[in-house]
Amino acid sequence: MTITFADLTTMRIGGPVGRLLAPQSTKHVIELLCELGGDEDPLLVMGGGSNLVVGDIGWHGTVVKMASTDLEIDGDLVTAAAGVEWDHLVHTTLSEGLTGLETLSGIPGSVGGTPVQNVGAYGTLTSDLLDSLSVYDREAGLLERWAPDRCGFGSHRQSVFKHSDRWVVTDVTFRLKRGTQSKPIEYALLAETLGIDIGGTAAPADVREAVLALRRDRRMVLDPRDHDTWSVGSFFINPVLEEVPARAAQCPSYYDIKGVKLSAAWLIHNAGFAPGYGLDWGNGTVALSSRHALAVTNRGGATTSDVMKFAAHIRDGVEACFDIRLGPECDLVNCSY
Ligand SMILES: Cc1cc2nc3c(=O)[nH]c(=O)nc-3n(C[C@H](O)[C@H](O)[C@H](O)COP(=O)(O)OP(=O)(O)OC[C@H]3O[C@@H](n4cnc5c(N)ncnc54)[C@H](O)[C@@H]3O)c2cc1C
Repeated sequence: MTITFADLTTMRIGGPVGRLLAPQSTKHVIELLCELGGDEDPLLVMGGGSNLVVGDIGWHGTVVKMASTDLEIDGDLVTAAAGVEWDHLVHTTLSEGLTGLETLSGIPGSVGGTPVQNVGAYGTLTSDLLDSLSVYDREAGLLERWAPDRCGFGSHRQSVFKHSDRWVVTDVTFRLKRGTQSKPIEYALLAETLGIDIGGTAAPADVREAVLALRRDRRMVLDPRDHDTWSVGSFFINPVLEEVPARAAQCPSYYDIKGVKLSAAWLIHNAGFAPGYGLDWGNGTVALSSRHALAVTNRGGATTSDVMKFAAHIRDGVEACFDIRLGPECDLVNCSY
């Protein structure tokens, strides 16, 4: 049976996979990457497929889907292999009395995928807790141990790993804390849900439950029965601009080291695309999530071409309104919009 990216990604779209390899341990991952070094086939590394959109033509080379499950706790340091499911790591660390990752509960994907776009939610970024990571340099054929300052974090959702096939993350070490209280909760909606003041703390398990409840409400926890979750999370990235066009002056804005970060959700909504928009557009297979304006969703039977046309329609509408061109937050492979 032919395996397709529709089988391997959370948006459930994309064509056939040339050759699929799923190494089960970090040792196996490294052996495989060394072997494939001289291979002429193009290589695509992936984890949970939750931030990846592949074209209908698929990928004719080799796909390495991280399936390594090694997980080690040494005092406050936790090292997880790239293939460990992210939320399994969060749940395990909390069960072991370690705090830090609780606000990152419920995010799909793999441990190795999180540094790629410096995953973040509810006031915490991967980089806040990162101690070090192992990286295989495919150009040099070397395995290296990196400190966070080599990763190129800084501007919103950026890192040296994003849009590069040179480096493969093979494991990640987080420095957490032992304790019974979370770090101070700065995210207003989360503090309100927990019934605490902004800057207050709560039991880490309660923070996890509150985050999961908020995420479920926004359809940001995967559920195979709910098409609102057949997505890559945010398809569009919050734009970072040096100068905000006058027409977008009302848009909520935040500091970014490269300028001003604007809310893509606000721009989309105020360009006339409310959550749920799209079911009567095109052939009805793609729409914005009914609960999240940034999430382009597959309503069943969508192709990558359908998704790209729809995303371009939203992008063009926003540009016509605000003179700002939205880019994708997810990785587009063999497709563009
Ligand atoms: C419902 C939903 C909610 C989401 N919520 C959030 C959120 O709150 N915050 C957030 O930041 N993101 C969110 N996301 C996006 C996504 O879950 C994260 O970006 C996740 O970390 C991607 O991991 P993955 O293993 O699925 O990566 P994949 O989708 O498999 O790959 C994404 C990219 O990373 C590369 N990659 C993957 N693994 C490695 C590796 N080991 N080494 C080098 N490169 C690699 C791939 O080549 C590809 O370019 C959400 C997605 C969904 C579907």
